[in-house]
Amino acid sequence: MKCPICSHAEGTLINDRDFPRHHICKSCGFVYMYPLPEKNDLNSYYEEAYWEKHHNAKGLINKTDDNSFDSRNKAIYEWCKPYIKDEKTKVLEIGAGYGHTLAYIKQQSNCYVEGVEPSKEGTYNAIHSYGIKTFNGFLENYNTDAKFDIIILSHVFEHFYDPMKALSIIRNLIQENGILFIEVPNVLKPNSRKHKLGWFSKEHISYFSKDKLNFMLSSNGFEMIRSEEENYLRTLSIAKDTKQTKYKNEHGKVKRAIFIHDLLYYRMRLLQKLKLQK
Ligand SMILES: [Zn+2]
Repeated sequence: MKCPICSHAEGTLINDRDFPRHHICKSCGFVYMYPLPEKNDLNSYYEEAYWEKHHNAKGLINKTDDNSFDSRNKAIYEWCKPYIKDEKTKVLEIGAGYGHTLAYIKQQSNCYVEGVEPSKEGTYNAIHSYGIKTFNGFLENYNTDAKFDIIILSHVFEHFYDPMKALSIIRNLIQENGILFIEVPNVLKPNSRKHKLGWFSKEHISYFSKDKLNFMLSSNGFEMIRSEEENYLRTLSIAKDTKQTKYKNEHGKVKRAIFIHDLLYYRMRLLQKLKLQK
């Protein structure tokens, strides 16, 4: 076991169970899964029925009027909007799901949109419901000569086996000075509505703080230019030659954040129970 950020080999185990096991690196505070699941098992899990099982999505879904799109679709568009110049602007979403975000961007700006999506039903929906060109497969198998102006990964980056490698592939797909949108769960502010056994999930290989995401981005030719830290970490970065930023040791900070999350979670449960008794 080695930390993907600093190569240190010792970590604090978060949940003592067989699988998944996530560790907080003692030297830098990055949170990563070890051991990793079999790659083939995980891949086929995303390819088959992922959306139906996890998001209860069935059949073709076509959102057309403004109210049917959810707040995340809209937020992604709002963040990317200043960089969409005209209909020639090329937007790629990696992990495009059912294509809703791309459909919304297309509807609002009429620019070119394209997707990469491992699940068959998601790809089918994006193509047949919205007419969006979508590659059914994983990022490492996606081949194109195109360079994109904007690339979006919304709650996708935490799923990669090797996030550093994923960023280097993305760097080759993006125009110089292109914009990369990444949103991931914020390890420093876990969602207090979920128990930590569930929040640290079998699908999430890595958990990021802004510091660690910033380090990974700068190591791969991206400079973070905007960020928002809530239960999620939402960021915009620009593709350009940039100096690698240093990372901090956040081991104590991450441990504290998880401890506080536990307190908040049990307080929420207690309040729920008291409410029910009234
Ligand atoms: Zn580390």
